[in-house]
Amino acid sequence: MTTVCKENSCTGCMACTAVCAKNAISVETAPEAYNAVIDTALCVDCGACRRVCQVDAPLPLLAPRQWLQGWTADDAQRSRSASGGAAYEIEKAFLQGGGHVWTCRFSDGGFRIEEVGGVDALQAFANSKYVKSDPSGAYAAIREQLRTERVLFVGLPCQAAGLKRYIGEKNAERLYTADLICHGTPSPQMLEIFLQQYGRTLGDASDISFRTKTNAGIRYQVEVDSVPLEV
Ligand SMILES: Cc1cc2nc3c(=O)[nH]c(=O)nc-3n(C[C@H](O)[C@H](O)[C@H](O)COP(=O)(O)OP(=O)(O)OC[C@H]3O[C@@H](n4cnc5c(N)ncnc54)[C@H](O)[C@@H]3O)c2cc1C
Repeated sequence: MTTVCKENSCTGCMACTAVCAKNAISVETAPEAYNAVIDTALCVDCGACRRVCQVDAPLPLLAPRQWLQGWTADDAQRSRSASGGAAYEIEKAFLQGGGHVWTCRFSDGGFRIEEVGGVDALQAFANSKYVKSDPSGAYAAIREQLRTERVLFVGLPCQAAGLKRYIGEKNAERLYTADLICHGTPSPQMLEIFLQQYGRTLGDASDISFRTKTNAGIRYQVEVDSVPLEV
């Protein structure tokens, strides 16, 4: 197996699949690891994938300029968000300022990075999904929008890094990113294995929630279509 970065060390950000002009790379997902596998019959050895790879060529770390903290004053929204709903407020302000927002939504059994259609559509994107989401097609569409528009990307740190690498310097001043604190994301396959114990699959769920807020605080609990799965 020929891989972009060292075997079993891929973050799954998918910048390499987006940058490959020959469609020679696919990210293989297994419960224990991701691998960006190169189809050597299609590869022309241009090196673009390794140049955008954050494992092969790590991004420099930045020192914090300012530390702010806060949460939404909207009680209902705070209750629907995983933590304080700051992400929702940042996204809403960006949309109201005329920018485009891309973030993660669960639909048709998958966790995908999609463009938010407007403030009214934001609800469907709120809340943390504690699995790797799929940015297929998003990076190229964002690059296109950045020619003339401002874009906010809210997602996993590996995705924000992958997107920055993919965009490069051209029009980068119009790109804003907000990445979540994340200690690693399991594959959706892990979630499928978990759901199987309850006779459910992601494909038959219209909604899924990983965290519920109760009077006693925050509980980690998977709810499918508002039905709690007791662990
Ligand atoms: C996989 C994962 C791991 C995390 N690990 C930690 C941790 O270890 N410690 C910690 O303090 N916080 C962690 N967080 C962050 C935390 O859950 C909250 O997202 C964060 O505090 C912001 O809360 P919020 O209420 O403002 O927004 P939320 O309601 O959580 O919304 C966050 C935004 O991120 C987007 N998003 C949610 N899930 C994904 C995903 N899988 N891929 C891409 N974008 C997504 C949503 O669409 C939304 O725009 C993690 C989040 C995720 C998704």
